[in-house]
Amino acid sequence: MKNLRKVICGVMAVVSIATGIVGVSADETKWETHYVSAQSGLNCRIKSSTEDSEVIKVFPRGTELQVIGVDETGKWYEVWDGETQGYCYGTYFVDNKEDLDKQEVTSDSNGKTKGKYLGRFKITHYCPCYTCNGSNSGRTAWAGQIIPGQTIAVDPSVIGKLQWVYIDGYGYRRAEDCGAFGGNHIDVAVPTHSMALDMGVVYKDVYLAE
Ligand SMILES: [Zn+2]
Repeated sequence: MKNLRKVICGVMAVVSIATGIVGVSADETKWETHYVSAQSGLNCRIKSSTEDSEVIKVFPRGTELQVIGVDETGKWYEVWDGETQGYCYGTYFVDNKEDLDKQEVTSDSNGKTKGKYLGRFKITHYCPCYTCNGSNSGRTAWAGQIIPGQTIAVDPSVIGKLQWVYIDGYGYRRAEDCGAFGGNHIDVAVPTHSMALDMGVVYKDVYLAE
């Protein structure tokens, strides 16, 4: 709903990642060292869930972590930084510290620069229809009409208004609309409602376009 989107953008929504995951199996014989690649740090939680699970620490980008375990969906990691043990959601890790530098300027398959790495984002889809937008007749928050193939809805504290970004597997998109969500989440405008439903939820690397 567009009205809801605008209201929530004013007050900053809290990220909620729907997950029914419980239980992370730790295997001490397979501890692996990884480095935090999330641009704005990685939340470490007391449980492998975003519900009833407080953030006990935010690991800054570059933090060396021992990954102790991963749940069966591969989405929640149990980690240890030498002081704190907890759970992190998503794949915000790289194996080598050098890989962090490579992510600053990354090129696509055509050698075109994608820009600065913003992180791994949850990608959902919407269309200009009434169900997706309410009575706003397909108007965006910050530009004109929704343009499928160009318009995305974002949390403006993560991606600035009217900023162009590069989404892996999608290409260049512009932040023209406000989402009823916060954090690393992009709602991508597509032409039809059935397409929005079919494309579902995916996770992609996102870069700030120059
Ligand atoms: Zn729709």
